[in-house]
Amino acid sequence: MGKRPHRRKHIPQRTCVACRTVRPKRELVRIVRLSSPGAEGTVVVDETGKRSGRGAYLCRQRTCWETALARGQLERALKVTLTAETKALLREYAAGLPKLLTTDSEEDKAAAKGASGGASGNE
Ligand SMILES: [Zn+2]
Repeated sequence: MGKRPHRRKHIPQRTCVACRTVRPKRELVRIVRLSSPGAEGTVVVDETGKRSGRGAYLCRQRTCWETALARGQLERALKVTLTAETKALLREYAAGLPKLLTTDSEEDKAAAKGASGGASGNE
């Protein structure tokens, strides 16, 4: 009904399933349960944020990943039981993240430290 211009840049926000912090989507890592035939039910880290399937988001800090795995928050969010293999994969990914993100400026350090690739979305 409203005709007001809706031009403000919309920044999508997502909630970390572990600590419940709401952040801009690109500051979080998407984990997705794939829905593509053949890979159905496979849980992967989705760096692009574009893979189809049910997604959940976690902060770029190891603490959240460990919490989510320990408390089954990721399984609940994705409605899937994670295999030992998948958990190992997620832990491996988390190992490349800083233990704790305190401020946004920490992001730079994290990117520099975890230069193992993939940190392309930093503008
Ligand atoms: Zn978090």
